[in-house]
Amino acid sequence: MPLLTPAFKLICPSCGWSKLFPPMGDVRFPGQVPEKCPSCGNEQLNHVKPNLAERMLVTIKTTFK
Ligand SMILES: [Zn+2]
Repeated sequence: MPLLTPAFKLICPSCGWSKLFPPMGDVRFPGQVPEKCPSCGNEQLNHVKPNLAERMLVTIKTTFK
């Protein structure tokens, strides 16, 4: 059974950019998760747990894509 990384959210404290990521398996594709803010280039992105509503939203999106 593949191990899933739980859903998470990246937030840029500098410009407010944020992106929600669905649960993912072990295999990650290059560029899937940005290492710096695509909006302002800040490399210190905050890695946070999405709240319940966001987790549901991202799970639904993943299921029905
Ligand atoms: Zn930014």
